[in-house]
Amino acid sequence: MITIKSTEEVGKMRKAGALLHQVHEHLRTLIEPGITTAYLDQVAEKLIRDAGAIPSFKGYQGFPFTLCTSVDDEVVHGFPSNKPLKEGQLLSVDCGLILDGWQSDSAFSAPVGKADEETLRLIRVTEECFWLAANQAREGNRLGDISHAVQEHAEKNGYGVIRDMCGHGIGMEMHEDPNVPNFGPAGRGVRLKAGMTLAIEPMIARGRWPIYIDDNGWTAITRDHSWCSHYEHTVAVTTGEPEILSFPGADVRRFL
Ligand code: MG
Ligand code: MG
Repeated sequence: MITIKSTEEVGKMRKAGALLHQVHEHLRTLIEPGITTAYLDQVAEKLIRDAGAIPSFKGYQGFPFTLCTSVDDEVVHGFPSNKPLKEGQLLSVDCGLILDGWQSDSAFSAPVGKADEETLRLIRVTEECFWLAANQAREGNRLGDISHAVQEHAEKNGYGVIRDMCGHGIGMEMHEDPNVPNFGPAGRGVRLKAGMTLAIEPMIARGRWPIYIDDNGWTAITRDHSWCSHYEHTVAVTTGEPEILSFPGADVRRFL
């Protein structure tokens, strides 16, 4: 069942999103060669708890950390570790929190120090996929319009769209209906309504989309070991412009 949030409920999700944005902006400043993802995880947990919120990933179906930190060919659900990051690597950071009972979920990818042009292009195109998709999260559009926008832009740029993982509805639960795939035809699926809140999250590989799950039971890795980028925000469908709840003030039309 898709839950429709009231104006007041969207307001609470806006507060959760604003806090999550602050956490991510702080983490971004810490990413450099030599730092460990375990350290980023500690910092994120402290920021979240000090603000009176709860890290939603920690303990979710047994997931042991506040952050998912996925490096290079890891797609999502990477475990923070004590292995120092190296110059030129590609790090994806995914984080979720609960504030006053309401969830927010957001992810970004960033180069570690100086990365090559191809890595920067993968990160940029993945972000563009998100913005183009978020711009479709409008009352009266269909869910497939979001999915199609991601696939079209990724494939036009020669990249693979991960198919086994997708975005999702979000609210008082982290994962609500509907699933939000990153591929598929436009004009199909559920009709979007004001008050729907969706985590839109393109996961884009430099190579092909098939993945496998690591022995830890969580981490998704591309089978061809091509590097992967991830970008996610919690988005509210409104009667006007889509609102990016986990990126206060962001202009949804930034890549149009
Ligand atoms: Mg996420
Ligand atoms: Mg998500």
